[in-house]
Amino acid sequence: MTDAHGQVLTVRGPVPPAALGAVMMHEHMHIDMYRWQTDEFITKEEPATPERRAYLLREAVPRLRQLHGFGGHAYVEATPEPWRAWPTLYRELTDETDIHIILCCGFYREVEIGTYWVKRPEDRIWPYVAEASIEELTDHLVGQITQGIHGTAVRAGAIKLGCSQPPMTELELKTFRAGARAQKKTGVHITTHCNRLGAETSQLTILDEEGVDLNRVVIGHTGAHIALPDYRKTILEWMKRGANFLSTNLEIAYLRNRQETSRPVVKWMKRGASFLPRKMGIYHGRQEKKWSPLVEGIHEIFAAGQGDKLVLGLDSGYTSESQNFGPMPYMPPHPFTFLFTDILPAFRAMGLEPGEEKAMLETNPQRILPVQ
Ligand SMILES: [Zn+2]
Repeated sequence: MTDAHGQVLTVRGPVPPAALGAVMMHEHMHIDMYRWQTDEFITKEEPATPERRAYLLREAVPRLRQLHGFGGHAYVEATPEPWRAWPTLYRELTDETDIHIILCCGFYREVEIGTYWVKRPEDRIWPYVAEASIEELTDHLVGQITQGIHGTAVRAGAIKLGCSQPPMTELELKTFRAGARAQKKTGVHITTHCNRLGAETSQLTILDEEGVDLNRVVIGHTGAHIALPDYRKTILEWMKRGANFLSTNLEIAYLRNRQETSRPVVKWMKRGASFLPRKMGIYHGRQEKKWSPLVEGIHEIFAAGQGDKLVLGLDSGYTSESQNFGPMPYMPPHPFTFLFTDILPAFRAMGLEPGEEKAMLETNPQRILPVQ
């Protein structure tokens, strides 16, 4: 990894961290677990169809370009194989927009049966994860970071791992061991999917046991963890040991917590709407109530001297999920820019300070992302 040491490994190759500007640490330009027309679980990455490529060039390119106006020049593509887009498509998108893209290799969680995207028990995880040994999985990741993906020159610059509940499954444990070993061999950072309280502790415990420097780990989707005053102690303990925490999906909780709006949303989604009406944005009074505990949590973490462990993302992007390929139906408009147009202004109104914002969006990602 000497060629990229101290640099960020993007789809165009190593770049200096200062070139990134503000960084969204967890997005999905392309994530599809099924071929919906044929009801097929995707187990092998293939080049994008001409339609899909044209769609992303038409829809995502202008959206990505707008990020520059907010000081954002990079994002982390948190979609693992085999549900990512073909690597050269990211290269094309980055060349069109000048937005640096950091691709992840890695393995997704073993999904809870009957929830989320899984339709059949056998679809609960990418079959390769079940078949391969830890050594094979490790080599698979290292190859994508050091050589390139699918024989292209495009390399992954981060490792994605995930589990949803504190007791990890056997297969999830295997992926975490492989991810940890690949991290130590390559020096890229690990970013995780972590939703339930306590899952952060399971993840960090196993990574620590494998000898990963916890400064090289970002625990994902933990805005709710940080917002809970009683739970913050646990998060701060891990931060003192080096671990970083990423808040995302600030809108999903908002919609789920408002009964009166969730019904029409479902109706619109059934009609094929690929976005939610603007008036349901973040400025509603209840939203302030909902997210001020997170802003309070951020203040407290900075006051405790751990503000260098916080980063932000949106978890937005494009998918088909039972409908035509388009923006994720459960996220507000628009992919990527919503963080800057809506979430950050609302957080500033709740008291988020410029220094805190700069640390979370620029300083911290620029420290975490370079290969070490
Ligand atoms: Zn995600």
